[in-house]
Amino acid sequence: MLTIQNYVRAESLEQAYELNQKKSARIIGGMLWLKMTHIRVQNAIDLSGLGLDTIEETPDMYRIGCMTTLRSLELHPGLNAFTHGAIRESVCHIVGVQFRNLATVGGSIYGRYGFSDVLTIFQALNASVELFAAGIIPLEEYAKMAPDRDILIRILVPKTTVNSTYLSVRKTKTDFPVLTCAAAQTPKDFTLSIGARPGRAVVIREPHFGSAGTFSEEDVRAFANDVSQNITTGSNMRAQAAYRTHLAEVLTRRSLLTLKGGSL
Ligand SMILES: Cc1cc2nc3c(=O)[nH]c(=O)nc-3n(C[C@H](O)[C@H](O)[C@H](O)COP(=O)(O)OP(=O)(O)OC[C@H]3O[C@@H](n4cnc5c(N)ncnc54)[C@H](O)[C@@H]3O)c2cc1C
Repeated sequence: MLTIQNYVRAESLEQAYELNQKKSARIIGGMLWLKMTHIRVQNAIDLSGLGLDTIEETPDMYRIGCMTTLRSLELHPGLNAFTHGAIRESVCHIVGVQFRNLATVGGSIYGRYGFSDVLTIFQALNASVELFAAGIIPLEEYAKMAPDRDILIRILVPKTTVNSTYLSVRKTKTDFPVLTCAAAQTPKDFTLSIGARPGRAVVIREPHFGSAGTFSEEDVRAFANDVSQNITTGSNMRAQAAYRTHLAEVLTRRSLLTLKGGSL
């Protein structure tokens, strides 16, 4: 059972950061993952009074506050027009509406969960994270780091993507995914992010499949085969490694053909 001694509604990020330096402290997002843990928390630090639950659009990026809920991502017209619905598709299978009304993007990205749909999509979109102490670093780098005591303030999504898509396979609706696959094109290149391998999502970049390039179905098949042979997959209660390797080939091929406007 999770036990909390003190609840602190932070009045500033400075205060939250100071308090969070103690090993016994925890930042709380939606608390949906935390409540499943069996830890004793001295200070539970709530960021909900700091105005970090908004999605701002600037001329060159989206700035998503850490307390933004997954439901807000799902329903945001601008983000979904920009990603051709890929953001909506990445989160809409996560448990249920009530759950997504509470789960935050900050808690989802900070956790760097192996099964994460959220990490998968934002990596493909070449997002960065804004941290209180460490500043702005690419999400791809952050995903490889071990959790520390910094505060994740925002996710920054550059408006460089011109087309994107999201696919996942689940054994039953609302279950954790067996494999996730997000793909995004800029005019110059293509970024693929594959997660739930079952390890953390990994990124593969390929200049040949940029939106300005021309590529055949044969090129796509060869690339998808290559990806499936080169990413590391593992087995758990949901699937064997060999099945995930097979899915990686299928989802990569489908993603690219969707972006190309071809058949599945
Ligand atoms: C039953 C269940 C099923 C799920 N299924 C899926 C799924 O299919 N796909 C998927 O992608 N996800 C899934 N998730 C994960 C979920 O979507 C959230 O990512 C998760 O609950 C964490 O978000 P939260 O807001 O609840 O964070 P919390 O539980 O509040 O926090 C999680 C961790 O992040 C830290 N933290 C939170 N915010 C910050 C911050 N701003 N800065 C620094 N640290 C912070 C906390 O201290 C804690 O260590 C599932 C979770 C559960 C419980």
